[in-house]
Amino acid sequence: MNILVINAGSSSLKYQLLNPETQQVLAKGLCERIGIDGKFTYKPEGKQAVKEADVAMPTHSEAIQAVLNALVDPVNGVISSMKEIDAVGHRVVHGGEKFAKSVLITDEVMAAIEECNPLAPLHNPANIIGIKACQTLMPNTPMVAVFDTAFHQTMPPVAYTYALPYEYYTQDKVRRYGFHGTSHKYVAGRAAAMLGKPVEELKLISCHLGNGSSVTAIDGGKSVDTSMGFTPLAGLPMGTRSGDLDAGILEYLMNKHGYSIDEMLNILNKKSGVLGISGVSSDFRDLEDAAPKGNQRAQLALDSFSYNVKKLIGAYAAAMGGVDAIIFTAGVGENGPETRANSVSGLEYMGVKLDAEKNKVRGKEADVSADDAKVRVLVIPTNEELMIAMDTAALVKG
Ligand code: AMP
Repeated sequence: MNILVINAGSSSLKYQLLNPETQQVLAKGLCERIGIDGKFTYKPEGKQAVKEADVAMPTHSEAIQAVLNALVDPVNGVISSMKEIDAVGHRVVHGGEKFAKSVLITDEVMAAIEECNPLAPLHNPANIIGIKACQTLMPNTPMVAVFDTAFHQTMPPVAYTYALPYEYYTQDKVRRYGFHGTSHKYVAGRAAAMLGKPVEELKLISCHLGNGSSVTAIDGGKSVDTSMGFTPLAGLPMGTRSGDLDAGILEYLMNKHGYSIDEMLNILNKKSGVLGISGVSSDFRDLEDAAPKGNQRAQLALDSFSYNVKKLIGAYAAAMGGVDAIIFTAGVGENGPETRANSVSGLEYMGVKLDAEKNKVRGKEADVSADDAKVRVLVIPTNEELMIAMDTAALVKG
């Protein structure tokens, strides 16, 4: 079974054609600068990547047409006709409280996704454009929506309710939703396989640490708390996002500097996080380069990040009444031994103990805890595309 996975942004579109049963990726790539000057990247398995500039992509439709043309191309294609695409899985950022699972896309589902647009105004409209473009070009191919928020719909009210007047929840839908759900769900499944236990019997803390970062408490396979909130701005300090802060700071800075709300949000989303603290970069590799050369703010940014990860691990162990394994995933989690070590240092009293040698691993599944550690520490590369393809295949078959 071949599933085309589409992750549509406002001016870009990532795609992958893969077989969820064999996990073989037949081709993948990226359309960028849609509506501007169209850049197209296509990488068929086992062959050289094809990169083209100035590809006419006034809308997402032309971008998806370019993807389909490449997939069936006589020279570099990986399938002989579009009929070999059994279904399309679409990443959708926000499913609100309506979607606790992935769904087959119908007209009613499309309407419900559109109703979630106000909750993710930068992301959902782009996801919908991607779905509509695919529906036009592939009218007989089943489509599935896989939501970043769905996995977290199992959170109990104590975890998702903000201490605001309750009408803001009932009328305005203001609550914690959480994001990165597809990634947290995928690594929880892999952790269970690595530990040789059903996920229903495990208490896991999943640390998705990348440019955007979130930590999730997963009890018995269900998300019971997560650090991102109503928006992906909450929780940990990230590459450029502030994470949690005292809301009073907004009023203070806006009054003092005369910022508009848009200017303030731009600072919180684009100029804060480890970039803001360090003044060096949002990229952990740059910080790990600068800190040993004496850049104290780069060191502070790294320390602050790990300190906040550690606080969440402690909080979620408390929330679940224990933890069997801590998972590190995404760019920094998979490739940053120092960040992993600093994030769990001092947690020996909880039964967490790293094996320094094993923890040198990068980008591979590994148990990096000491043999006698009570709590396992696992490195698990995330694979959101595979998870989307697996959910899509299950719905189409079912
Ligand atoms: P992601 O958003 O999951 O793609 O993660 C991106 C981030 O991962 C980058 O900004 C880097 O800071 C970090 N990263 C990627 N590779 C490495 C590496 N080898 N060592 C440390 N950090 C890395």
